[in-house]
Amino acid sequence: MTYESKLFYQKQAEKIIQALERRYITGIYAPTREEAIRLVMKEIPSGATVGLGGSTTVLESGLVDELRKGDLHLLDRYQPDLTREQVYELRLKNLRADVFISSTNAITLDGELVNIDGMGNRVAAMLFGPSKVIIIAGVNKIVEDVEAGIRRIKTIVAPMNCLRLNRETPCAQTGVCDEYACHLPERICNKIAVIENEQKKGRTMVVLVGEPLGY
Ligand code: SF4
Repeated sequence: MTYESKLFYQKQAEKIIQALERRYITGIYAPTREEAIRLVMKEIPSGATVGLGGSTTVLESGLVDELRKGDLHLLDRYQPDLTREQVYELRLKNLRADVFISSTNAITLDGELVNIDGMGNRVAAMLFGPSKVIIIAGVNKIVEDVEAGIRRIKTIVAPMNCLRLNRETPCAQTGVCDEYACHLPERICNKIAVIENEQKKGRTMVVLVGEPLGY
């Protein structure tokens, strides 16, 4: 990224962090993914049980490797050769984890977190259960408002995820969402959650990373 782009995103991040504080959500800016990992690791108490939401951001950032080395109990959904039943069990355990780490599909300039899930397990843990939720988001996740967040998900996030998951959905076939032709069980846009505020101050922390991460 150019110097101007970095500065531009840093300014936007500062504005979002102020908005998050009003919403009882802690916001921190990390200029790089390495700094983001350092900040996240610092937030995890020794021996904590840590759950992970399905997230290309979390994978791409290198955080999973760091968590595997840490003094903590990782509910590691990225281990190879897990059965469907084991993954399902980990999703349930996430709800009782001490710390839950995920990304967000979009974050608005006013600090709302916008997400759509297929099953709902990821947003469930963001909403309720773990005593701490850490969200990592690259600057590519910033949108103007909630409507733009949902549009971002239907035009970029869900089509990319459908391709990654080999889903037979209209967006995977054409690159464009077609709600009316998109049917269960292939469809992954089923449950929408918009987090406007956190009830317990600081339960949720957003680390805004000054570079694009995930999609
Ligand atoms: S509703 Fe269906 S077609 Fe549209 S983005 Fe979601 S999965 Fe793709």
